[in-house]
Amino acid sequence: MHDKPGNIVILTGAGISAESGVATFRGPDGLWEGHRVEDVATPEAFARDPRLVQNFYDQRRAALAGVEPNAAHLALARLDREWSGDLLLVTQNVDDLHERAGSRRLLHMHGELRRAFCLSCDERQDSPATLIEGATCAACGASEALRPDIVWFGEMPYHMERIEEALSGADLFVSIGTSGAVYPAAGFVRVAAAHGARTLELNLDPSEGTSFFDEARHGPAGTLVPQWVDSLLG
Ligand code: NAD
Ligand code: ZN
Repeated sequence: MHDKPGNIVILTGAGISAESGVATFRGPDGLWEGHRVEDVATPEAFARDPRLVQNFYDQRRAALAGVEPNAAHLALARLDREWSGDLLLVTQNVDDLHERAGSRRLLHMHGELRRAFCLSCDERQDSPATLIEGATCAACGASEALRPDIVWFGEMPYHMERIEEALSGADLFVSIGTSGAVYPAAGFVRVAAAHGARTLELNLDPSEGTSFFDEARHGPAGTLVPQWVDSLLG
């Protein structure tokens, strides 16, 4: 095991899954899989057109079956196994590629495609393959009451207390594959730095917050992340 244990907090975004074939949030056209973000990822969109939103997430969920973790997910899973210090991987991603790669110390701050919750009783549960046809809640039996367990714009991200506690104790904060445009995640670098952490960005191109990092390396996550993990584990 490692002889210089430290406290590492890692934040990942859609960019870490790009090389697996999962589209990022704002592609070159400014759209997410052909949709404006505000048409599929807000409570207002769901109230206005639930079938459009359910169909959108049903498709994203179905697409998970055709993708695999890439070298970046696998390297972070290796780091999780071999790092003897504290480590927390916070992902904004709603895909399941980190857990399929083997990461265990993992929080999904924006929810998960494979989970749903009941609008009638609030109970979280594994999602059926599709929600558009009105799935039945496993807890209360309500029909047509399940929505994707996804944190939409305007909703409160999950696990914020645990994340802020980890950030305040971090020696190293690393941000991977995220544009730095979505708050509160985009502010984590400043929280960690304010508590004395060293900060590192690994992203395809400079993020909106790149100047807040002590160091930034730009390139594909599938190359940069394994390099970084190798150098850390020696
Ligand atoms: P984003 O799309 O805003 O930014 C992605 C960033 O990754 C960009 O800066 C881009 O330059 C970079 N990038 C692209 N390809 C890369 C590669 N191969 N290697 C390294 N970096 C690469 O994504 P975000 O910042 O995560 O936005 C957050 C929102 O997107 C979240 O709410 C999240 O739930 C949602 N989202 C998740 C997924 C997913 O689960 N895979 C996919 C799309 C959107
Ligand atoms: Zn219910």
